[in-house]
Amino acid sequence: YLLQLYQPLNIFGFVYRGIKESLNDMEKMFDLLNVEREVQDKPGAQPLHAAGGEVRFEDVRFAYDARRPILQGISFTIPAGKTVAVVGPTGAGKSTLSRLLYRFYDATGGRILVDGQDVRDVTQSSLRAAIGIVPQDTVLFNDTIRYNIAYGRPGATQGELDRVVSAAQIRNFIASLPDGWDTMVGERGLKLSGGEKQRVAIARTLLKDPPILILDEATSALDTHTEREIQAALRDASRGRTTLVIAHRLSTVVDADEIIVLEAGRIVERGAHAALLAMGGAYAALWAKQQDVNGNGAKAAETVAAD
Ligand code: ATP
Repeated sequence: YLLQLYQPLNIFGFVYRGIKESLNDMEKMFDLLNVEREVQDKPGAQPLHAAGGEVRFEDVRFAYDARRPILQGISFTIPAGKTVAVVGPTGAGKSTLSRLLYRFYDATGGRILVDGQDVRDVTQSSLRAAIGIVPQDTVLFNDTIRYNIAYGRPGATQGELDRVVSAAQIRNFIASLPDGWDTMVGERGLKLSGGEKQRVAIARTLLKDPPILILDEATSALDTHTEREIQAALRDASRGRTTLVIAHRLSTVVDADEIIVLEAGRIVERGAHAALLAMGGAYAALWAKQQDVNGNGAKAAETVAAD
């Protein structure tokens, strides 16, 4: 394991902190790298009883460094099965929200509840079992495509694997590989494109089948066709799951039940897409900027530019 893992890590120049910041497959890496955790289970912590997966932030405050507050009183609820998208300029604190939900750090004020339970009161393993992350950039193991997908749930049957790769829209790609499911991928095997890696991440997450999903949207633009396929796969993956979308572009937010606009650690606007556009405020400005970048309104949802 470790050898397989260190190799790509070295090549990409990742260090632990970097991984942590971009939510790169940490679910697994934490355990593999055996790194010291920032937060510990409380003595006598109980497992989370995840029901529908309602997520609630109550006046959450956070600073990586006490001298520089990052989140300054954030409150919102994602009802079970619904989707909330967070948008805003770079550095606003969007990804920080997902790191706190996954409990890489503890809030310095307020609290975060999952189905009514404070994340600080439950075991980290049970919390993380309830949350699936589709990260910005997926690290592949130097192993087969089968291994890379199946570690979402070791022991999954071929039937289950087939179902998730169909839903993630990567089934035809796998079928086209020289050795099919047994094709070696990763730095020492077939190198997958950004879009292919994202679909591997989606398939893994579908296999894990968590009630809560964090989608950390990629910063880099994908081509229109790939983007569409991934949008469809993500929509599928988030159906029936409580979903927090960290939107670095605006491509996945249009259909969210609520969009939260974060600026310098505060919520400055919130609502559904149409209402926010009509308001003509910060969200409308972000949207307009995105259209400028595209020079084409119709394509706006598919490329660049919240940042
Ligand atoms: P982007 O859209 O660029 O990804 P973001 O809104 O997701 O931005 P965050 O990643 O949440 O922003 O970061 C918020 C702020 O916290 C930034 O100013 C960042 O520099 C700072 N920050 C993030 N991680 C750390 C860390 N580990 N230590 C100290 N400061 C950090």
